[in-house]
Amino acid sequence: MSVPGERHVFSIPMTVRFRGITVREGMLLRGPAGWGEFSPFLEYDARVAAPWLRSALEAADDGWPAPLRESIPVNVTVAAVGPDQAAEAVRASSGCRTAKVKVAEPGQSLAEEEARLEAVRDALGPDGRVRIDANGGWSVDGAVAAIRVLDRAAGGLEYVEQPCATVEELALVRRRVDVPIAADESIRRAEDPYRVRDLEAADIAVLKVQPLGGVRACLRIAEDIGLPVVVSSALESSVGIAAGVALAAALPELPYACGLATVQLLTDDVTVSSLLPVDGELPVVRPDVDDTALTRLRADDARNAVWADRVAAIEALGQDRVP
Ligand SMILES: [Mg+2]
Repeated sequence: MSVPGERHVFSIPMTVRFRGITVREGMLLRGPAGWGEFSPFLEYDARVAAPWLRSALEAADDGWPAPLRESIPVNVTVAAVGPDQAAEAVRASSGCRTAKVKVAEPGQSLAEEEARLEAVRDALGPDGRVRIDANGGWSVDGAVAAIRVLDRAAGGLEYVEQPCATVEELALVRRRVDVPIAADESIRRAEDPYRVRDLEAADIAVLKVQPLGGVRACLRIAEDIGLPVVVSSALESSVGIAAGVALAAALPELPYACGLATVQLLTDDVTVSSLLPVDGELPVVRPDVDDTALTRLRADDARNAVWADRVAAIEALGQDRVP
């Protein structure tokens, strides 16, 4: 891999603690086709981070396939909050017609989750779609029982994301409930979607561009596995989100709203305008990077050195760009 010389390491405080982090860091690379984002989470080693760099280089060097649509419907994410706050999140969502509601929160009762789902359905109206995300938090039996109750509370669930931790468990749950199952955490490396397919563990695949090595790599996976795809973010700035938007725009079919409305979780952004939903959709555009924002959000020298080392470690693996 050859990494372009123009690089900027950004550091953006988050509005909420998410995934255990309060600051989002990453590197922007500029190439002939534009800007790419390389922002693997800090605990990832060079081998795990390598596809993230391939994704950034695709954006910077090659750009993306032509879009088939002009805007991408996105979901609002409702945290494991009480019913009033849940309803407020839906109302404040800039017109999102799909809500993803967090469930299987440690320490919460099923009754609390029922109340949350009832409130979300009320706020969304009968024609909105409601999906839940358990982030792998249930056992198989727990998932089967909870899905039945929450499906009723929601007035019908669109799907359940990652009810249990493992692919094998997803397959077992899928055989015992009628609500479709989506695999999210079970898909982190390029080989994972094939396992999900082979075990018939999910009806829907959640794909993230950076961990899977870029837009073209994801299009190939989507074609191979033959499952409908929901494109999701990895908590990127608008530069990284634009890659997710490009994937969603290039997929032959896009039956579900995507999980790309996450720039709200950051207190600032590196672009002139941010990829935020308007009437529940993101425009298929590549926002311009803002030089003043790069200066404002520039990480300190020590962090720049850390990111330079991360890139060097991946280059030292000597991997080809083709996965
Ligand atoms: Mg998820």
